[in-house]
Amino acid sequence: GATIGILGGGQLGRMLSVAASRLGFKTHIFEPGSNPPAGHVAETVTTASYEDVDALRAFAQSVDVITYEFENIPTSALDILEAIRPLHPNRRALATSQDRIIEKSFLNEIGLKTAPWAKVTDAASLEVAIADVGTPSILKTTRLGYDGKGQARIMAPEEASEALAAMAGAEAVLEGFIDFSMEISVIAARGTTGEVACFDPGQNVHKNGILHTTTVPAQIPESLRMDAVLMAAKILNTLDYVGVMGVELFVTKGGLIVNEIAPRVHNSGHWTQAGCTVDQFEQHIRAVAGWPLGDGTRYADVEMLNLIGDDVLRVPEFAKTPRVQVHLYGKAEAKPGRKMGHINKVL
Ligand code: ATP
Ligand code: MG
Ligand code: MG
Repeated sequence: GATIGILGGGQLGRMLSVAASRLGFKTHIFEPGSNPPAGHVAETVTTASYEDVDALRAFAQSVDVITYEFENIPTSALDILEAIRPLHPNRRALATSQDRIIEKSFLNEIGLKTAPWAKVTDAASLEVAIADVGTPSILKTTRLGYDGKGQARIMAPEEASEALAAMAGAEAVLEGFIDFSMEISVIAARGTTGEVACFDPGQNVHKNGILHTTTVPAQIPESLRMDAVLMAAKILNTLDYVGVMGVELFVTKGGLIVNEIAPRVHNSGHWTQAGCTVDQFEQHIRAVAGWPLGDGTRYADVEMLNLIGDDVLRVPEFAKTPRVQVHLYGKAEAKPGRKMGHINKVL
């Protein structure tokens, strides 16, 4: 069988490896960190840095197609990999989602609404940005942020310098604070022949900047459900995307606003493991392997709950609960804020 190369060995890479294995593929994980969660299930693991040209070359040559479970892959590494094997999703998708300013510019260009935003590099540009965007607002590093890291809220202009200090010199974007009634996300997929399929939008609740629960179906009118799916399809088609993408949206009185896109399987799509015949992980593997997309029709109402840090101590209780599916990532230490696993409860 063919081998799928996956950049990143976290829980997403692990669940992609399981899905790939079920379809008869082998997986090869490339991950700088030691003992990655995906390493326990993949056939092969390369532990090397993204600066290691020889390791990248050998990795690419050993696989048939390359995909990834996180978006912060250095451009220099992509140059090497892409010259050897196909990369799905493509480089434009990766470059667009790696940088919040490129991402928002792209979304606005294709006619999708984002929070009002302005680029910030120093105190002077922050002052201009605050005059433009207003307060309350959120200052975010343009690159490398996740789980709410690299963000500072600015409730009033006096808080500007403190927020700027929190960026530690990194380029940032100031976003107007959106008064949303709900957060939803669409997990969308596009195959090599251009077909698009979206999972039913899920309703997301965050706690301390980290996803806490996703519930399907999202409690939104049919018209918004349709809008969300069409917006996702527009993003994927414009990027000539192949694979699964997570599209995070704010529901407001004025309609849907795109928060951000993730060019990979997404935490808010884990419910598909218990709610669909083909879940997001298999869907992604199908897409990057050139298979037809699978049937992602939702056949159950589901609540996904993330197990963060010590939440994992509740596993014995969940293991006894009817209609609950337990997923653990095999991480040794339950540090605060660390995603240890999740449960899917069929409602
Ligand atoms: P992820 O782990 O999803 O990649 P992240 O670090 O990229 O997270 P965001 O998705 O930008 O962070 O923000 C995290 C959460 O903070 C959002 O889901 C939302 O609840 C809140 N938030 C972010 N930006 C805004 C905004 N402009 N207005 C209101 N709330 C916001
Ligand atoms: Mg993000
Ligand atoms: Mg987010």
